[in-house]
Formats: sequence, C-alpha cells, structure tokens
Amino acid sequence: MTKSIIIIGGGIGGLSAGCFANRNGFKTEIFEQNPSAGGLCTAWKRKEFRVDGCVHWLVGTDPSGDFYKLWDQLGMVRNQEFFYYDYFTQYEDLGGNIFRVFGDPDKWRDHMISFSKEDEKLITSFTRDIKKIMRQDMPVDFDLKSAVRAIPTLFLFMKYRMPLKKFAAKFKNPLLRKLFIEALDWHDMPVIFIFWTLALMGAKKAGYPVGGSDALIGSVLKKYEELGGKIRYNSSVTGIIIENDKAVGIKLSDGTEHRADYIISAADGHRTIYDWLGGRYTNKFINKCYETLTPFPGIIYASFGLNRDYQHIPYGFQYQLKKPVMIGSEEVTSLGVRNHWFDRVLCPEGKAIFNIMIPQDYSFWKPLADDREKYLAEKQKALELIISALEEQLPGIREEIIMTDIATPLTFERYTGNWKGSYEGWLLSPSRITLQLPSRLPGLDNFYMAGHWISPGGGLPSGLLTGRKAIGLICKKEKRSFQ
Ligand SMILES: Cc1cc2nc3c(=O)[nH]c(=O)nc-3n(C[C@H](O)[C@H](O)[C@H](O)COP(=O)(O)OP(=O)(O)OC[C@H]3O[C@@H](n4cnc5c(N)ncnc54)[C@H](O)[C@@H]3O)c2cc1C
Repeated sequence: MTKSIIIIGGGIGGLSAGCFANRNGFKTEIFEQNPSAGGLCTAWKRKEFRVDGCVHWLVGTDPSGDFYKLWDQLGMVRNQEFFYYDYFTQYEDLGGNIFRVFGDPDKWRDHMISFSKEDEKLITSFTRDIKKIMRQDMPVDFDLKSAVRAIPTLFLFMKYRMPLKKFAAKFKNPLLRKLFIEALDWHDMPVIFIFWTLALMGAKKAGYPVGGSDALIGSVLKKYEELGGKIRYNSSVTGIIIENDKAVGIKLSDGTEHRADYIISAADGHRTIYDWLGGRYTNKFINKCYETLTPFPGIIYASFGLNRDYQHIPYGFQYQLKKPVMIGSEEVTSLGVRNHWFDRVLCPEGKAIFNIMIPQDYSFWKPLADDREKYLAEKQKALELIISALEEQLPGIREEIIMTDIATPLTFERYTGNWKGSYEGWLLSPSRITLQLPSRLPGLDNFYMAGHWISPGGGLPSGLLTGRKAIGLICKKEKRSFQ
C-alpha cells in the first residue's frame, strides 16, 4: 500500500520534501496556513509593482553542478532566466570614496590595491583563495565521497572562519579596513560566508532569477502538483497527534484532524519542538542550540516604487549617511539599497523598485503587536526616515515615489511563523561552521524536520537539502532506495 506523508508548511523546505517524496512513491499532502505557497520566498502586488520579499540570488545555477541537478528535479532552473551581477555591492563614504566588491577576483584585487598598495600581499592571497572556491562544486551530500571532494574547501572554511571584522583588522591601511567592513559586514558573519558568496557569483554559480520569488515558487509548485502532490491552503496546524511516541497526524485550527504514516514539519523549528510537541522530544544538544545559537534577526523591509527608470544607478549600493539615524530599534549609519530596474516583472518599463533591508531588534517591535495605532505610527516614522535618508544620496527622489511598502519583524512572524520574525533561520557561527541540527527528534517515531531551522546559514538551498534529506531518511526506514 502507498504510504502517506503529511508536510507542515509550504515554503521551499516543505515543497522540496513534497517533490522528493512523490518521486519516491509516497502520497503527500502539504498543509499551509496562508492562501499561497512559498513562505518567506514570496512577493506581493502593490499598484503596478511587485514587491519581492526574498530572492536576491539562487545558489546552484550552473548546469554542470550537483546543486543545479537537484533544483532541476524541483523544476526550478531549466527554463528559468538568470541575471548575473558583476559586483556584489558598491559602498560610498562621506569622503566620496567608492568601493566596489566585484565578483571577478582579479578585478576586485586590482580595485582594492588601488586603495592600498601596502596590503597587496594579503589581498592577492585571499582573492587567490576565492578563485579556488570558484572551482569547487557545492557539496549536496554529507557522505564520504562528498567529504573527500570537499577537503580543499574545508581547509579554506577553517582558514576564513573568523568574523569579518577580525579578518579586516589584518589590513594595514585604515581606509581599506573601513571600506571593507562597511561594504561587507553582515551580522558579524564568518568571512568565509562572504568569500563563498563572491566565489559563487564570480563563477556564475549563483544568479538572480528573473521574475523573482514568484517565478521560483511557481515552478516548484507546478512540479509538485505534476508529481501528484496536494496542497491545502488556509490550513493552520495547531498540534501534532502522538500515539505511543509515534507521530500519526496533525490538528488544525478549525478543529479537524488529519492522519498519515509520516509527519514532516517544515514550519518554524521552535514552535514545532517546544509548542506543538511541548518540549517532550528533545535532548541536551537540541536545547543548547535553541538556547545559544543566534537567529538571523528580524528586519524592516521597505520598498519604494519609483516613477523613473533608475538604470543609471547601481543595482546594489550602500552609502554613509551624513549622521546616524534611529530607524526602528537600530542606529543606522549607512543605507543599503537593491535597485530592481532590470526585472520588468517587478516594475513596468520606465519605472524602478528599490528594496531596503534594515536588521531590527525583535523586542522593540513585539510590544507594538498589542497597540495597532502605535505600530502603524512606528512604521510610518521608519518610512519617513528612510525617504529622508534616500534624499541624501538621490535628491528629489521623494517626488518620484509612487508606491511605498514596509514590512517589520512582526509581519514576517505573522506571515510565516518564523521565530522572532527571523528571516533566514540560524546565523552561521564562526566557531561551529559545519553545525547541522538533526532531522529527527529523539524518542519520536515517524516524525522528521525540514527547512532552514535545521541548517544554520539558511536560505533556499537549506530548504532544498533538508527536504530531500527527510525523504532519504523515510526511504531508509521503509527499506527502499532513495531515488
Ligand atoms: C528579505 C529576504 C531576502 C532573502 N534572500 C535570499 C536569497 O537571495 N537567497 C536565498 O537562498 N535565500 C534568501 N532568503 C532566505 C530564504 O527565503 C529562507 O531561508 C527560505 O525561504 C526558508 O524556507 P523554509 O521552507 O525553511 O521556511 P519558510 O519559508 O518560513 O516556510 C515555512 C512555511 O510554513 C508555514 N507555516 C508556519 N506555521 C504554520 C502552521 N501553523 N500551519 C501551517 N503552515 C505553517 C509558513 O506559512 C511557511 O509557508 C531571504 C529571505 C528574506 C526574508
């Protein structure tokens, strides 16, 4: 008899699990709380614009790579057009210094040396290492063969696992040190994360999918349904049914119960383990992770539809503000902007859309959840401050703004259920760079986890791999080989 699987959550983790399960002969049903799939990987319409709430790049777009082959099984890459950035970002300080972070390591090397000849040796050494990473394929498995293949990269992981600021301290030239930090520091992540991203970009192994998040999720949803998968929208899970330490079903907010042979949670990790399962199926390691690891923060995500084609402005730029400004919970010293003029799905001809992401402290926003007026006022204040900050760099832009949109950590929490409004699960920790959380919970049978909460560093690839891994484990339990 065909075995059945219930999957909680229709984000990339749940959809990946669904596709691999159906390919392996299981009958699956995804229960998604929202009226549409995608979770964090989503977009929404505002006037003639689409605000893309997620994707800047998809890792694994090189057809010769293993990752590409996996995305292809989800129907996501073969017919997808990608836009390749030639630089990661451009940072401008108040002194008029313009620092570009190129995907091409030689170009970046020359550019950095133009700021500091005295740091030539260090610059040459790490840009050479970026070239080495460019030649490596991204590992998709954690078996012996993959481990052997990954040895050269593992060495580089260890070499560059320190936080970016610590690495930047090696520059002799103070200006280069400052520009490097301002342009690249992101939540104090290990420098390898940045070098890896640049290497993927330089090697055209990561690109921006034209059409954004909608295009990606539309393709995987189509594939899932072609494979016979079913998705139930507006179905909010409130509990997991356990019988004799075995997961046998789920409860929904409408009071109904649904049963299956296996249950996978591809929804928020904290809610799954500590709310739905009451913390009964955990251990020291899992508890320690939830107590000590740092999640990606919540963010303000502000978008502006512009009545002008901003093709003359870089597609990714940051600049120092004349003076620091408090936006929400954060003192902002520079503003980073993504300019999506090049994707006509997001904005019509002759127009542009800007997205701005500002990390926030969740505890600042949480109390506002009970005071709608105050919350709306805080959002409006943040929008105003961001527009004033844009004016510093692009005088007159205020008059060109014909659409505004702002999401806060509370928006992300409400829409996706992610813990504290986190936008990508756990941050990579410099001291535990290869850490993964288990796909199974101790003492609980027939239950598996998928999604970014079990794979620090997060992102769409973590959804792909953890969904696939959960199905691999179920196949093993069923004593069938994983296809
Ligand atoms: C602004 C931004 C930019 C990003 N940029 C990139 C990028 O360029 N590249 C990249 O790879 N990644 C990027 N990410 C990260 C990426 O979007 C996430 O890491 C990834 O989408 C997480 O997928 P997931 O399936 O693990 O979780 P989620 O997307 O959170 O999916 C969980 C799903 O479970 C559902 N759910 C939750 N609770 C319940 C319930 N009670 N009942 C039923 N359903 C429930 C949710 O509605 C959701 O659909 C970005 C994220 C953001 C916000």
